[in-house]
Amino acid sequence: MIAGPGLVFVVSGPSGAGKDTLVEALVERMPRLRYSISATTREPRAGERDGEHYFFLTREEFERRLAARELLETREYGGNLYGTPRDYIERSVAEGDDVILKPEVNGALAVKAAYSDAVLIFVVPDRFSHLRERLLARRTETNEEIAGRLEIGHREMTFVRKFDYLVVNEQNRQEEAVRDLQAILHAERFRIHRYTDDSIEKVQSS
Ligand code: 5GP
Repeated sequence: MIAGPGLVFVVSGPSGAGKDTLVEALVERMPRLRYSISATTREPRAGERDGEHYFFLTREEFERRLAARELLETREYGGNLYGTPRDYIERSVAEGDDVILKPEVNGALAVKAAYSDAVLIFVVPDRFSHLRERLLARRTETNEEIAGRLEIGHREMTFVRKFDYLVVNEQNRQEEAVRDLQAILHAERFRIHRYTDDSIEKVQSS
C-alpha cells in the first residue's frame, strides 16, 4: 500500500438507524481509523462520558469555540447544538490516518464542502417503522423528542442522493452492515485519484 493522507468518512442517516453501534464496531476493527468526537450542548445520557461519546459543553463554551473557528460545522438538532472540531480531522488526515464522523445530513454535506474528497455514507434501517421501535427501546428520549427525531429522519431521507453510498442496517443483521461499511472503507483507499503521480512513478523507477 502506498502511504498518503488519511481519508474522511462521514456516516449519516436518521436517528435510530444504528450509526453509533456500527461506527463503534468499525473503529474497533480498523486500526488506522479514528473516530472524531463531536461537541454538543445536550445533556449526557446515562453511560455517556465526556471526551469519549461527545465533548459535553455549555452553550457559552460551544459559542466561544464556534467564534474561535474551532468547529468545522455546527447544527442545531432537537434544541441542542452539535459541532465537529476542526483540529482533530486535520491532524488525523495529515498523519495518514483515516477519520470517521457521524453528523446529521447537513453536517455531512458541510464536511463534504470542506473536504471534497470525503466519502459520504447514508445508513438506513430496512424499515422506517424500526426507527420508532429502536428509539422507544433505548428509553433516552421523551415521546415528544422521538416524534421530533422521526420527523427529522423523514426530512433527512430527501438528501440520500447527495451521498456516495447507501447501507441498509437490517434488523438483527448488524454484522452484515459492519462488513458492508468495512468493504466501502477498504475499497476507497484504492481509488486511482488517491495516488499521487509521484507515488506511482516511484513504483515504476524502483
Ligand atoms: P444524538 O443526540 O442522538 O447523539 O445526536 C443527534 C443528531 O446529531 C444525530 O443525527 C447525530 O448524527 C447528530 N450529530 C452528532 N454530532 C454532530 C456534529 O458534530 N455535527 C452535526 N451536524 N450533527 C451531529
